[in-house]
Amino acid sequence: MTAPAPAPLRPRLAVFKFASCDGCQLSILNLEEELLALAERVEIAHFLEASSRVVPGPWDVALVEGSITTPHDAERIRAIRAQSRLLVTIGACATSGGIQALRNLAELEEWKAHVYPRPEWIAALPTSTPIAEHVAVDHELQGCPIDRGQLLRVLVRLLLGTRPDLPLASVCLECKRRGQPCVLVTRGVPCLGPVTRAGCGAICPGLGRDCYGCFGPAADPNPASLLRAFEAAGLPRRDAVRRLRHINGWRREFRSLADALEREDGPHD
Ligand code: SF4
Ligand code: SF4
Repeated sequence: MTAPAPAPLRPRLAVFKFASCDGCQLSILNLEEELLALAERVEIAHFLEASSRVVPGPWDVALVEGSITTPHDAERIRAIRAQSRLLVTIGACATSGGIQALRNLAELEEWKAHVYPRPEWIAALPTSTPIAEHVAVDHELQGCPIDRGQLLRVLVRLLLGTRPDLPLASVCLECKRRGQPCVLVTRGVPCLGPVTRAGCGAICPGLGRDCYGCFGPAADPNPASLLRAFEAAGLPRRDAVRRLRHINGWRREFRSLADALEREDGPHD
């Protein structure tokens, strides 16, 4: 009797977490039925949110959630990079530093003294920064959280050995495709859609509210022009700047304008 043929080797997928809320990892688990099909095609080698089974590297694809906030994080991401053929960052924390990068606007020692009873026990870097500031990143999935359909399409492309087709345009394009009335034009609501990357399906404008930029900057955005439109619609500049200093506020495309306006006006509280 001949021995059964060995099962074909499946690509190894690993998922890692840094400073984050786990929401993007939950988006992977929320793939539900597709997750079972995915698990047949890849070996899920490291995904602590789903399983305690850990297969050491090297890995074919590493999905990385979260920002770098401690010296240990900075060491760990370098070790993960060294073991990963492709490294894909997922979510605003990993691609921009996340909402926790708001702490970059003040002194670390000041935060620690306010937050912790024993600040001397806290080993933290002075900033929360995106993964790409520490290691080379092959692809970035923006969003807070990421869009699970987009994640699935990217994984399929990577498994097929082709380049992911990530959107470059702004949320406005998705809005128009859905035939939604524009909240900025029709009601003067300060919508960040014109400078925000497509990929969410324009969910917020579809519900009659403004986009707040959770998908990060679109390719080559013009936030200065948008802020002039907000000011013309009566939004005080302080509030307009706050719109930029949000989930993706540490991204250069938003931060440089917010910094420049604060230099002109003095710090906005
Ligand atoms: S990007 Fe948003 S949903 Fe994803 S881990 Fe960070 S805070 Fe959570
Ligand atoms: S509602 Fe916002 S995203 Fe939609 S078209 Fe208007 S500005 Fe763009």
